[in-house]
Amino acid sequence: MSKFIEPLRGVHDVLPAQIAAWQHLERITREVFAGYGYEEFRVPVIEQTQLFKRSIGDFTDIVEKEMFSFVDQGEDHITLRPEATAGIVRAVISNGMLREGRLRVWCMGPMFRRERPQAGRYRQFHQIDAEAFGFEGPDIDAEIILLSARLLRRLGLTGTKLLVNSLGTPESRATYREQLGAYFGAHEAALDEDSKRRLKGNPLRILDSKNPDMQRIVAGAPLLLDSLDAGSRAHFEALCAHLRSAGIEYHVEPHLVRGLDYYTRTVFEWTTDALGSQSTICAGGRYDGLVAQLGGVSTPGIGWAMGQERIVMLLEKQGLGVERGRPQVYLVLVGERTEIAGFKLAEQLRDAWPNLALQVNLGGGSFKTQFKRADKSGADFALVLGDEEVARGMVAVKALRRELAQEECPIAQINERLGVLLGLKSG
Ligand code: ATP
Ligand code: MG
Repeated sequence: MSKFIEPLRGVHDVLPAQIAAWQHLERITREVFAGYGYEEFRVPVIEQTQLFKRSIGDFTDIVEKEMFSFVDQGEDHITLRPEATAGIVRAVISNGMLREGRLRVWCMGPMFRRERPQAGRYRQFHQIDAEAFGFEGPDIDAEIILLSARLLRRLGLTGTKLLVNSLGTPESRATYREQLGAYFGAHEAALDEDSKRRLKGNPLRILDSKNPDMQRIVAGAPLLLDSLDAGSRAHFEALCAHLRSAGIEYHVEPHLVRGLDYYTRTVFEWTTDALGSQSTICAGGRYDGLVAQLGGVSTPGIGWAMGQERIVMLLEKQGLGVERGRPQVYLVLVGERTEIAGFKLAEQLRDAWPNLALQVNLGGGSFKTQFKRADKSGADFALVLGDEEVARGMVAVKALRRELAQEECPIAQINERLGVLLGLKSG
């Protein structure tokens, strides 16, 4: 038996060295959402299993095989959320948030799907999620796509591609479903097991198959865009016009259906070819029936979700990963009486400069050892305190990455001196 407890398959740790890129993504995300008047929303990670079954759809990958579900001690049927939309819809209904009719929110956090782990595909992953409720027209479709485009642009990502399609209304989709059923029925012998099952349950799902053999058959399937109702067509054309006028390049992808059942009209995806087969970095669509389907007052909705791991991978790949955080100052303490005096000095500096990053040498060590640590920490300056300095009320200041003569400074004046050396601002 192994001595170590292994991590679960398909989960990953975000190491301190990677945190800068994550925080960068999170900071830009907050700024961009604020710029469009979207408010942050935090909803639970666990929900009743029924919520996802009722919203995502029975013949989807998620509900068929990817949910982490369990019965707890109180016999509640619980699922770790595989996506954010269902929980947000549940939350806006249970909190009566649709009374005012309109809402624009976003959230960020972990999602769970029991899929086959690969690079860019995990069992616990993170999404940034945008949702808007109460807007019927194509203006919100344009806004929420523009928002995603701005976020990708602000991150500096290049080589991304926007795919759009319309799934029409449930009625036009029903007609299309029959056409698809007939088409795939004629090719039944060539279908894989998943697709055969979906042929009976929901033939639209076959369009979303990841099996290359199925994709060849899918290529010849009838197009939903051809049987679109007039209202959906006008909605789609207005969205496309908005995107053109905003200078957002897009590609109409008539077989784009997305892996969840609740979408109506607009669906879209952002893809990249820089991440191999895990090419979708953001995806979403309109879900006009979902609020009513989950027991709320019929309200249109639209949203998207962005995979944070895939974005971080892209940032790293495109050399946009931000630098790892490091202290500005490392405090070297050598001598019997320096531990107490050193802690005092460090707290005095942190009081003066709330944004100062200062690391104190703990556990002693020779000058040489401590200077090595100081250098490795990446700090710009070392402050040096020995018994002799403490006795004289002085501290030595040594630049670690610049040619500057070592100096001595009275402890009473070090706040000011460091402020000048590091260009610190108070508050
Ligand atoms: P895929 O086709 O890659 O399975 P999906 O259609 O299941 O994606 P969505 O439910 O639309 O994905 O999720 C939105 C985004 O979240 C995806 O585009 C992707 O960036 C990310 N994502 C989805 N599943 C995972 C996962 N298992 N690991 C990491 N990121 C994921
Ligand atoms: Mg999937």
